[in-house]
Amino acid sequence: MSYLVLARKYRPQIFAEVVGQAPVVKTLQNSLLHQRIAHAILFSGVRGVGKTTLARIMAKAINCEADTDSKPCNECSSCSQITKGQSLDLHEIDGASNRGIQEIRELKEKIRFLPTSSKYKIIIIDEVHMLTTEAFNALLKTLEEPPAHVYFMFATTELHKIPITILSRCQRYELKRVPAVELTTHFEKIAQAENITIEPAALSLIVREAGGSVRDGISLLDQMFAYGDTTISHKDVIEVLGLTDRDIILTITKALLEGDRATALKTLEGAFEYGIDLKRFTSDLLECMRNLLLIKMPDCGELIDLPAEEITQLQEIGGAFNFETLHLKLSLMMKATEELRYTSQPRIALETAFLKIIEAGSVVPVSELLGQVTSLLQGDTSSAAVTAETAETAEKKPTSTPAEMGSGQPSATVAKKKPEAELYEEPQIPKANDQVEELPPPEDADEPPLASTEPFAETAGADDLAPPDAEKEDKMESPPVIAPHPHTHDVRRDWDDFIEYVKDRKVWMAKDLQLAETAREKDGELHLHYNDPVTCTLLRNKENRKLLTTFVLDFFQKDLSVRFILPDMTSNGDDNGDEENPHLQRQQLVQNPLVQMTVEIFNGQVGDIRIGPRSR
Ligand SMILES: [Zn+2]
Repeated sequence: MSYLVLARKYRPQIFAEVVGQAPVVKTLQNSLLHQRIAHAILFSGVRGVGKTTLARIMAKAINCEADTDSKPCNECSSCSQITKGQSLDLHEIDGASNRGIQEIRELKEKIRFLPTSSKYKIIIIDEVHMLTTEAFNALLKTLEEPPAHVYFMFATTELHKIPITILSRCQRYELKRVPAVELTTHFEKIAQAENITIEPAALSLIVREAGGSVRDGISLLDQMFAYGDTTISHKDVIEVLGLTDRDIILTITKALLEGDRATALKTLEGAFEYGIDLKRFTSDLLECMRNLLLIKMPDCGELIDLPAEEITQLQEIGGAFNFETLHLKLSLMMKATEELRYTSQPRIALETAFLKIIEAGSVVPVSELLGQVTSLLQGDTSSAAVTAETAETAEKKPTSTPAEMGSGQPSATVAKKKPEAELYEEPQIPKANDQVEELPPPEDADEPPLASTEPFAETAGADDLAPPDAEKEDKMESPPVIAPHPHTHDVRRDWDDFIEYVKDRKVWMAKDLQLAETAREKDGELHLHYNDPVTCTLLRNKENRKLLTTFVLDFFQKDLSVRFILPDMTSNGDDNGDEENPHLQRQQLVQNPLVQMTVEIFNGQVGDIRIGPRSR
């Protein structure tokens, strides 16, 4: 006994049985009802959505002998002859194998004669786009003025290959891919009719694989029915169809988003051992990431053709991430997929791509940053602070999870910023001051420790040591003291560097400074010893001394007033008290709310503070 494949067994015979083409079916039925049937009808759409089926049903309906409004009846002799494929008045031609002008001529010869047993002759040309240009041209005249007893039905998967002259003579129906929901219902019915139980997850896989094509889906069902017993499980489908398990795709996607390297690579390893089809696998991953992105766009819900439970799963995975992050990761995955095509080491390439995607980390949208800056500029510092805080918290959230899961591995999600620990530890590295303090006491035994002479140093130290959260709280409550940049210089150690620094700005001043016997920091002052007062006359000029003070502040980041120690006098450095204090000026700048908020938003620190044209 020959086996009738499911696709043929369950081919719709009447309009009511057609799956998922409601608008087209309704139009066709109305045209039948009102006797307004076009003489040439063209069905287009991807494979397996019902083009030929609809053409046949239409042929039946046109020739149906029943006296009813809902044609075809599928019972009269004409209908049953067409169903059996025995009708003499239905000519079904495969355009792919009958594409020449000769075949069209023969066809035209045939249609000159009246139908034998039915009212009309129906010509169905499948894959009509395969006809040659000459063949199309030979058809033109007939299509324009067809004999009254002839109807043409064309079906094509490639509408764009059909000459416009033909298109304009046809009534066109574009068949859509069948939505997942309708396919699911349809396949359930078939399984029921075949007395086979199919797990929902298995069915959902088959529906996904069908890609909107009824025939493709039914063929897969056929394959599954042949494989299994009376029950078909999710695992069966994966095995038979060589699919990648949905769970693997979801696990990897989740790991890529959360920055969980270990899980991503181990799952990939498992998949490789299982023998995945790499091309398929990457396209599944891409699809999954695309769906995650679409879920973030509320008005694009209908673009995701997935069963409800999978949508819920995706919502859970993507919930913690913003659109920009998902978009970035999807773009990187796209790039990786492209690159995979040219590599001889696909596995390594894929692993590298995974690491890259993980390292890409999370993205704070520029608009959000700009929003914060704007509200800042409007003086709305409190709200800006709150926004900055929330943005930061939201961004940190994903990183905490993988850090816990990743068995102690450092999280790499925040690649844009330095990892938290590093960020706050960094200032400790160049702490030359500490080392200096530990050195044996200098010659000037009464010289106090540098830290105490230097108001910034204490603050900086405190801030550096404080945990980031505490620091943030401080900033929320009271006017924060921004830690100045940690690269403070030591006068004795870095004196030569300072002279170089001055040399770049005032050559003569550097030369005069070189003539100093010694330079010492003492009681918040810079003591310059000169044996010959003449050598520092120019330096002692009020303007120049002010400039020198600024240089000292810029370079050492310390507020030291300059004092000249000369053989015949003890001091002459106190005559600038009434002038504006450059250090105070800088401190005011640091305290400026705009500066503070900028520091907060970008998670930075205040570095060298320089004013005016001297800054480089
Ligand atoms: Zn009938």
